[in-house]
Amino acid sequence: MNSRKLPTYAMFALMLAAGAVSAGTKGNPPAAGTKPASGEQRAAAGEHPHKMAQLHGGQVTKTKRHHFETVFGVDGIRVYLYSDQQTPLLADKTAGSVMFQFPEGKSKTVVLAPQPAKDEDVFFCTMHPNQVARKAGACPECRMKLVPQTSLFAMADLSKVVQGGLKAQITLDGLEGEESPLTFTETYHGPAKTMNQ
Ligand SMILES: [Zn+2]
Repeated sequence: MNSRKLPTYAMFALMLAAGAVSAGTKGNPPAAGTKPASGEQRAAAGEHPHKMAQLHGGQVTKTKRHHFETVFGVDGIRVYLYSDQQTPLLADKTAGSVMFQFPEGKSKTVVLAPQPAKDEDVFFCTMHPNQVARKAGACPECRMKLVPQTSLFAMADLSKVVQGGLKAQITLDGLEGEESPLTFTETYHGPAKTMNQ
C-alpha cells in the first residue's frame, strides 16, 4: 500500500512545486466586483489547461466525461462538445435548452438545437479525434475524410449585453457516458477571442 501511495504523493508535491495546485482558494466565491475566473485562471487553480477545448475561442466548462465550449455571439450562443480528453465531438445527437438570465431579473429560455454543418472552422477524424484541422481534408493517419465539428445553437439577440451582464444556464440531453441531462452556467465575459490567437 505504502509503495503505491508514494508516487501519487510525489506527483502532487511536484504539481505543488510547479504551481499547478493551489490549496485553499478553489471554490471560494469571487469577491464582490471582481470578475469570475476565466477558464485559464481556473486552470491555474488546479485543473488542467483547456486550450484544446477552446478551438472556437469560447469559454470552457468541464464535467466528469466532457468539456463544453460556449461561444457567445450577438445572435445567440453556440455550444461545442469535447471528450474528457478535449478531443472534438459531434453535436448531432445532443439537444437541450438555454435559460438566459439578464441583470434586471428577466429571463428567457431558448431551445438549443444541433446545427447542420455549414461554415465550420474545425475539422477532425472520427477515428482519430486528435487529428484536428482548420480546413477540410483527410486524416494523416487513416486518410478518412475529416468531418466538421458541429455545434448546438440557441438564437437570442445579445447585441446589447455587457460583460458580466448575462448568465446562460445550459441544459443538455442526449450525451453519451451517463451524464444526461446535465446543467452548467456560463457568464458572458465579452465576445469570443478570435481563433487565430
Ligand atoms: Zn483517422
